[in-house]
This record gives sequence, C-alpha cells and structure tokens, in this order.
Amino acid sequence: MGGFGSGRYAASSRDTIEDLPFFGIKDWVAKGLIRPGNAFDLIWADEDGHPEASIDIRIEKVSSVHPALVGLLPAGSSVPDHLQAVLEYSAGRAPDDVRPITDAIALAQSPRGFAGQSWRFCCPGCARRVADLYPGGDFFRCRKCCGLLYRSQRETRQARGLKKSVRIRQQLGGTGEYGEPVPERPKGMHWRTYQRLLEQLAEAERP
Ligand SMILES: [Zn+2]
Repeated sequence: MGGFGSGRYAASSRDTIEDLPFFGIKDWVAKGLIRPGNAFDLIWADEDGHPEASIDIRIEKVSSVHPALVGLLPAGSSVPDHLQAVLEYSAGRAPDDVRPITDAIALAQSPRGFAGQSWRFCCPGCARRVADLYPGGDFFRCRKCCGLLYRSQRETRQARGLKKSVRIRQQLGGTGEYGEPVPERPKGMHWRTYQRLLEQLAEAERP
C-alpha cells in the first residue's frame, strides 16, 4: 500500500491546486503502462529524493456486461471490455488520520485518437474525459472537480473559524461580533491564558 498525504496535500491551508502533484495519462501511454494486469506505482519524492507520497496502481479489465447476464447474449456476440485503473493509497494527515483508499478510475479510448493520445481518464466526479487527475480531498479528480471541492472545503473551514472566533470573543467578555475591537484581558484571567486565546482568535479569523 502506498502512502499518500504525509502532509503533502492534506494541509487544509492550501487554496490552490497548482502546486499539487497530479498525474497524466499521456505519461502512462508513453511508458506502455496501460496493459490489462499491469501493476506499477507513482512516487513523488522530496528535494532530497526521499519518497514523499506514492500511489499503487493496477490496470484491470472489466466487462461492460454483468457476469450473470453474459449467458443471455446471442452466441458469438462479442462484448467489449473496458479498462480501469485501480488506485490504492492512504489519504489524510499522517499519522493520526490516515485512511486507506481504493478508487477505480475508468479509462476511455477515443476510436480516432492519434497514437499515444487516445487514452483518457473518466473523471468519477463529472464523467468527463480528461488527461490529468489532481488530488482533491481524499480522491483524484479532474481539475474542475478539484476546484469545486477546494472551494467548499475552504468555506467549511471559514465557517468553523467564525464560530470559534465568536466563542473566544465572548470568553473574553465581548459581544462576539466580528467588527468589535478585541476585548481587553478580563480581570482575573492569566496573561498566558489571554495570550493563548489571542493566538487562537487570530488563527480562527484567518481568511
Ligand atoms: Zn471531474
């Protein structure tokens, strides 16, 4: 099982996907990796060459007809098989929150494609055929799906932060309103406690 997300992309402060590892199918075609039964892995290394993240991949043949129905087909009729890439990796923030993920991505071949450019990933999020997949949350999806995912994650984080901000401001004797100046240290509260709450407040109100 490969490890993915040793802090590489799980950091919630990321707002863009531009600098995240992605993978493209053209590279697989160029290396001749798309063969039924073939297994390989993708490894991202850090600056020192240490593996930072990896995904185990195997190419599987799947029938487009349910096995129970094959007997009902007229004799001699051929049923086209499809290929899928099964990805296995762990997602989440290591080491306290790691989840093993298995995700199948269907591969599509356009009949009139040029050699080396005919394969595409079918994005499980939107069913579009795409050449590259990006990490979005726990899964790999097309750029568009990842963009939507990141926006909703960021909004969730902001909503959580706002709630926390209100709680801390009220704890300091304020009304909890955002525009209000940060309340003075309440009588009887330790400086250290006040300092810690101010730090938490700044973190919670980070855009
Ligand atoms: Zn998509």
